[in-house]
Amino acid sequence: MVKYHDALLLFGVAFHEMLGHGSGKIFTETSKSNFNFDRNLKNPLDGKPITSWYKENESFMNRFGGAGCNCSSYEECRAELVALHFSSIREAWEVLIPELAEQHEELMRLSWIGMIKAGLRSLKNYSIESKKWQQAHAMSRYVILQCLLEVPGLINIKIFTAKDGKDDLLLEVNESIIREKGVPHLSDFLLKIQIYKTIGDAEKGGALYEKYSKVGELEEKYREIIVERDLPRRLEIHGTLKKD
Ligand SMILES: [Zn+2]
Repeated sequence: MVKYHDALLLFGVAFHEMLGHGSGKIFTETSKSNFNFDRNLKNPLDGKPITSWYKENESFMNRFGGAGCNCSSYEECRAELVALHFSSIREAWEVLIPELAEQHEELMRLSWIGMIKAGLRSLKNYSIESKKWQQAHAMSRYVILQCLLEVPGLINIKIFTAKDGKDDLLLEVNESIIREKGVPHLSDFLLKIQIYKTIGDAEKGGALYEKYSKVGELEEKYREIIVERDLPRRLEIHGTLKKD
């Protein structure tokens, strides 16, 4: 992961911003009986006609935020999911970092492991006192982790006693099933997140997001260990040369 640090960061940020935040139509009734989408379209989640959309002066933020959803985090999650999804597509690596296209399978696995690890570490940004998330990106990565924990055999998180006698965490990821089991599961989740945003279904979208962002007793224990074991941020300073 250290070897490919810069490439993974470039890929993650580029696809998060460009095809994450930069994508996704908002279905809107632009004026009376005028729509910016084809009314014959079917909702891919249920195969039925589209029955909800935004009114002219409505936005995703006011509709989802008004329904009590953490819409900033929801949107960050959508962008993260897009980047992670594209990491499984060889052509995406070919376009952005052609010199590493041959290593795309390994780079995908590293992108996924990085996200899973970030999802666990993000618990640092959850407040036990207020029972609230304090950072949109952290919450979004935790939601992705919770979604991926549904894939049987993909992720294993264990609490164990370390040599210093204190609790520590072991995170295991079964890399061999990421493509076969993880990718379709994540794509389904991205589809739901995207469709609810597109058609303005704050009720279903908000409920889905709420479900995955819940922190239970076990996760609170994980958080305690992560905070306890957290190292101070590394500080880089310039060396000073002295002549005797
Ligand atoms: Zn973002």
